[in-house]
Amino acid sequence: MTQSVSTKSQNNLSLSMPVQFLKGVGPAKAKAFAQLGVETVGDLLEYFPRDWVFAPDAVKINQMREGQSATVIGLVESVDYTGHRRVPTFEAEITDDTGMCRVIWFHGGFLRNQLKVGQVIMVSGKVSLYKHQMQMTNPKFMIVDEESADPAEYFGGGVYPASAKLSSRQIKRIIRPVLDGLEKIVSEFYGRNFLRETNLVGRKDAFIWIHQPPDEERLAQAKRRLKYDEFFLMQLGLVLRRFRRKHFSAAVPMVCNERIDSRIRKRFPFLLTQDQNAVIAEIAADMSGSEPMNRLLQGDVGSGKTVVALYAALLAVANKTQAVIMAPTEILAGQHFISIERYLRNSKVKRVLITGGLTGKKRSQLLKQIATGQIDIVVGTVALLQEDIEFKKLGLVVVDEQHKFGVRQRDPRAFLPAASTRVESRGGRRKQERGRKDTAVHCLVMTATPIPRTLAMTAFGDLDVSVINRSPPGRGSVITRWVEPGNRQKAFEFIRERLAAKRQAYFVYPRITSTEQSWGLLRGTPHNGVTEDSDIKAATDEWRYLSREVFPEFTVGLLHGRMASAKKQQIMSEFRRGKINVLVSTVVVEVGVDVPNATIMVIEGADRFGLAQLHQLRGRIGRGEAKSYCFLFAQTDSETAKSRLEIMTRSNDGFEIAECDLRLRGPGELFSTRQHGLPDLKIANIIDDYELLAMARRHAFEMVSADPILTKAEHKNIRQALIAKFGDSLGLADVA
Ligand code: ADP
Ligand code: MG
Repeated sequence: MTQSVSTKSQNNLSLSMPVQFLKGVGPAKAKAFAQLGVETVGDLLEYFPRDWVFAPDAVKINQMREGQSATVIGLVESVDYTGHRRVPTFEAEITDDTGMCRVIWFHGGFLRNQLKVGQVIMVSGKVSLYKHQMQMTNPKFMIVDEESADPAEYFGGGVYPASAKLSSRQIKRIIRPVLDGLEKIVSEFYGRNFLRETNLVGRKDAFIWIHQPPDEERLAQAKRRLKYDEFFLMQLGLVLRRFRRKHFSAAVPMVCNERIDSRIRKRFPFLLTQDQNAVIAEIAADMSGSEPMNRLLQGDVGSGKTVVALYAALLAVANKTQAVIMAPTEILAGQHFISIERYLRNSKVKRVLITGGLTGKKRSQLLKQIATGQIDIVVGTVALLQEDIEFKKLGLVVVDEQHKFGVRQRDPRAFLPAASTRVESRGGRRKQERGRKDTAVHCLVMTATPIPRTLAMTAFGDLDVSVINRSPPGRGSVITRWVEPGNRQKAFEFIRERLAAKRQAYFVYPRITSTEQSWGLLRGTPHNGVTEDSDIKAATDEWRYLSREVFPEFTVGLLHGRMASAKKQQIMSEFRRGKINVLVSTVVVEVGVDVPNATIMVIEGADRFGLAQLHQLRGRIGRGEAKSYCFLFAQTDSETAKSRLEIMTRSNDGFEIAECDLRLRGPGELFSTRQHGLPDLKIANIIDDYELLAMARRHAFEMVSADPILTKAEHKNIRQALIAKFGDSLGLADVA
């Protein structure tokens, strides 16, 4: 090992070469680099400075002004060291063709064997006047005529995020020779014309300038180019993945004629809205082909997505296939099943709800019926349906993510490829012949979390997106108020009046995540802890307080995550039937219910909820024609929490709220790209650099439609970069 260190050369420099083979990097430094996430030369090049300093332009000595900072270059005429004074001083005189400048360094003994008469040096510091002569005290300096010296090292350049074992300066020294050898390892992605039209600088220049920017202008150009490349590679990966899924796997094409369409529509006791019709048209068009549908359906809670999902399921059934509807929790699955039952009363379509309580013989009988195709629509939780259930012929998977994702930061798309492969391994594979396309199912993901356009392009960039913007008519407005402790009793009185008028109310309790007292929960008794148990305790205590002291004349029910499934269902059904007036619940239990008569929601400790969650919760009211009221009980000094509460009182628009959320929290917190199987963004930011992102996306679509698997010669470099970034998950590696 020691031997190879001494013979290190940059001859075989490549992006995939481990940094350890670089000059000046031994095993210890390599380890320190690894801790910074840098393993290869390619990683090192993308280890961008976190800040940059610029060397001031050098001036002539006669342009130096007293009291200002300046940089000058001059010839060392004399040096002198006085070590016997109280403060030992090193002194030099430098000249250029305009004058002379005196330079002194206190405690400058170390300079005795560095600075010599006859050298050309550059000094930078504050100018003073001493006995009518220009002088600089303790300036930064650099010997200009010494080859190894790097002006940037002393006077400017990148400042790297460093660690205890690896300083910014060391990183700089190690990266410098790599930048010199860039010619061989960094290749251009785009043609000359494209660079000119888009005003992007070359990729090689961009790398050099980001690490050693000659000036601010070129640094800005370098950043723009590298951000663009980062977006472009990501978008190209997404577009290719989408293309591949569409063209290399086949699903059952579904016929949707007028007869089928009108038969399905007859099931709904209302006319579908314009938005629902538009989305259904998109879905029917997707499903009519053998390219599997991969569509994301966004729409606020209550906007009518379930109806759309059922339409798609019935279309699949009409085409002699089975459909599955998955929800994140049992309550939501139960809720879906209830609505489906309502719409399908007296229909020949066979549907079942699979619950956790279903066991033994009953369960195996049901599974058999599914496997033999006697059952058309299966509803259940994701967890249950991911167990080994065999279908006769599955045609459609609907995944309802409700408010689970975005809040819990889970990726609904995780189900997509998995769902289709699972299905394939159950039903399809046996019949599958060699050389045929993979079998897949049509897939529809529904989400009530409005996805800002930036995220729709990144995290969900490989899906087709449909949006329901307007909810069905006949919805009362929702008024939201932020209630501080002093007004709590007034709010209770208001709620009492509404309850007396036969309306119903939700009271929701947050998970307590900090040690601070939660004033809303128990007057005076602080609640600590982060467990679900403390949630349940809080909700239980509040339930007791509300039922005994605040609303003794009404029925107050309690719902929490530890209750048995049957008990939960019972409470829900009593609330639905109006037997329970006030429902107290933890957040662990999604209030995933559709009770139009519930027109009041109180969210305790509302300052602890994220915007997405607040909006989701509020979506449970305002479902009927009556006016609804949402009370956010909160007391906070946090500015962010205050902004969240203010936005909630001001807006009911899910997309506006989601954009605000993204701004308040930053995309990193809401959605890390890595969670979505995308490479991390090192320099680009999806909010700040939105224009570049949009441009990269257009460009990626153009490129793939012109050259779907990037086999053209001019795409060789970009294809290599993609393979390096995504591995062969895009199926590019096999096409040489
Ligand atoms: P989501 O799944 O988006 O939360 P749902 O499909 O459950 O919304 O619909 C919410 C409520 O609106 C339900 O009570 C449903 O019956 C009703 N609804 C849906 N579509 C319409 C429509 N076109 N006209 C009138 N009411 C509708
Ligand atoms: Mg719904």
